[in-house]
Amino acid sequence: MISIDERILDKITETMHQILEGEKPVPVELPLDYPNNEIKQLVSYMNKMIVEYNHVANFMYSLSRGELNYISSKGKMVILHSSKALQSNLRHLTWKTQQIANGDFNQKVDFMGDFSEAFNKMTSQLKDAFEKLGEANQKLHQANEMLHQISRTDGLTNIANRRHFDELFKTEWRCAARLSKPISVILIDIDFFKNYNDTYGHQMGDECLKRVANALRITIKRPCDVLARYGGEEFIAFLPDTDGNGATKVAESMQSSVAALGIAHKNSQAGNTVTVSFGISSMIPEINGSHELLIARADGALYQAKQEGRNRIRIS
Ligand code: GH3
Ligand code: MG
Ligand code: MG
Repeated sequence: MISIDERILDKITETMHQILEGEKPVPVELPLDYPNNEIKQLVSYMNKMIVEYNHVANFMYSLSRGELNYISSKGKMVILHSSKALQSNLRHLTWKTQQIANGDFNQKVDFMGDFSEAFNKMTSQLKDAFEKLGEANQKLHQANEMLHQISRTDGLTNIANRRHFDELFKTEWRCAARLSKPISVILIDIDFFKNYNDTYGHQMGDECLKRVANALRITIKRPCDVLARYGGEEFIAFLPDTDGNGATKVAESMQSSVAALGIAHKNSQAGNTVTVSFGISSMIPEINGSHELLIARADGALYQAKQEGRNRIRIS
């Protein structure tokens, strides 16, 4: 027959065994009338230790699952305090990482030894990489802009090229058709320009083209008006919401602007200086009409201006 003390000691042994085997220990219960002896004292210590042990076990379990907001009951064991410090560091690290994820690369950690060093190095490399990427992106954007600009511009005269003109003109044509508004086209051609090249040389010819282009450009005032180089010594302008009278006024102003340049042209049969001829065409487009018809008509008017002696404006 085993005594009650022996049974209690067996229970204590079993509890110790549970702890060592990783099972959850259960406090040992004594009968109410159990005497105040050393075994009772031992059981009391044992049960307190079990409570502390369970605090640590629950806390470590939550930490291992990444539950960084788990709040432990109060406990006195050093291991619990150390684990809480680790939880607090991990929480802080999580916050730092979130800031970095949001683009703040100035975050540093200094509380986790080698890990801090590696973390800080990674952040600073990320910062460098992002800065370089930003610079490269900006350069790419600028290069794209420049390329886009070049693809739309005539290299010699710096005004719009024919391709860009065609794109814009088609759009404005459709707009004018939809709104039933007039649109005008002016074709402009330098008179006796072959003679000019033959007399003064090709380089001077290029210079003359640039100056004429600029003289034409400064007469175009409205933001939707477009002037372009259409071919060798030929320019074209379209003027939305402008009828034949308005376009004639613009052409007259262009003619004066070119005359004001006073570029000597001794072998011109139209005068002593460089002159230009104009062909104007104007219409209210129909939805299914052809924008090319307007240009063809302006070309007809230009032909007429040439036939009638040049340095003049004709309208079809
Ligand atoms: P018209 O009065 O009938 O227009 O006679 P034109 O001599 O101006 O016309 P033509 O079509 O016979 O000659 C155009 C000249 O324009 C010939 C060509 O050498 C010159 N030309 C075309 N493009 C350029 C260029 O980019 N630079 C220079 N310098 N000349 C050019
Ligand atoms: Mg010409
Ligand atoms: Mg020509």
